[in-house]
Amino acid sequence: MTRVLIAEDEQRIVSFLQKGLRASGYSTVAVDTGPDAVALARDSAFDLLILDLGLPGLDGQEVLRRIRERGERMPVIILTARDGVEDTVASLEQGADDYMVKPFSAKELLVRVTAHLQMARLRRESSAAVLASEEQFR
Ligand code: CA
Repeated sequence: MTRVLIAEDEQRIVSFLQKGLRASGYSTVAVDTGPDAVALARDSAFDLLILDLGLPGLDGQEVLRRIRERGERMPVIILTARDGVEDTVASLEQGADDYMVKPFSAKELLVRVTAHLQMARLRRESSAAVLASEEQFR
């Protein structure tokens, strides 16, 4: 089953995300602090991370930096407030794949999650294909 990690401290938004994702067959785990997000992204295998920028403990940008520093490549979708444009741009530069401005619709969420999971799968398949073809010519 595809597993999505949600790092968000607003319970209302967590419920909204979980409801939409579960209805589409995804399994979800939610954390509400930055340190918990870093720890879970390290210890458990997730296919995608939905990351709020304004998290207690460590903000979303720092969470993202620590995760990418370890070479973790799972797709990351940033959640941001309407006035958070600069932070959003910085996050994209740090390796976030996409962002959504609050409030967003369940439909928008699911379209983006599906698209990024698909791209991640294609990336894995093409790097596996490259490895296989290199093997052939050895
Ligand atoms: Ca927040």
